[in-house]
Amino acid sequence: MSETILVVEDELVLRETLAYNLGKQGYEVHTAEEGNTGVDLAYEVQPDLILLDIMLPGIDGFEVCRLLRKEMNVPILMLTARADEVDKIVGLEVGADDYLTKPFSMRELLARIKALLRRVRMTREEVAAEVEEDEAPHQLIFDNLVIDMDRREVFLNDESLDLRPKEYDLLVCLAQNRGRVLSREQLLENVWEWDYTGGSRTVDVHIRWLREKIERDPGHPVRIITVRGVGYRFEG
Ligand code: CA
Repeated sequence: MSETILVVEDELVLRETLAYNLGKQGYEVHTAEEGNTGVDLAYEVQPDLILLDIMLPGIDGFEVCRLLRKEMNVPILMLTARADEVDKIVGLEVGADDYLTKPFSMRELLARIKALLRRVRMTREEVAAEVEEDEAPHQLIFDNLVIDMDRREVFLNDESLDLRPKEYDLLVCLAQNRGRVLSREQLLENVWEWDYTGGSRTVDVHIRWLREKIERDPGHPVRIITVRGVGYRFEG
């Protein structure tokens, strides 16, 4: 999906040049020629970045920036023609993310835009990764059987079980696929990966060991069910 850029610029030639060049780069471009429509359009299209001229009819770029900052997190690149404007931007009074002094080259502008968009993308990914980490279950709980993924420990009736590493991996693999039949091949691939030397009998042996540890009656298992001719299914 292409990223959207809103251009707020009152000079016709510059506005059209920007729209043309950004469009050619694959961005979806929206334009406004004065401050108030710029603000309205920003809310409407929710752009990924805003190019904002300072001297505009109606409310100026500083005011537009202040208004948007209250409501949106969008990166704002300001276009300025005067040194005193630069002072104001750099003083961070308005909350712009970057600025360019007119006249500027299209190449310079595109580089700044890419850098800003990349920064936002990275921040977003970091946030997403953190959320994912927080939400990932660190414990799998099946009545009196608790698998603590942080500590690689399994508890049955609150007592820690003495599992071999592969027994633990096998149990986690089955438990994470609760209710689904997993073939011996799938289990070998997931649990043993490259250090697998035995045949599919390896799986059966480990299942037997696991059952002795987690089933009330290993001869009549209710947690790890054998699916004849296919593999195993974890019931919980
Ligand atoms: Ca202007």
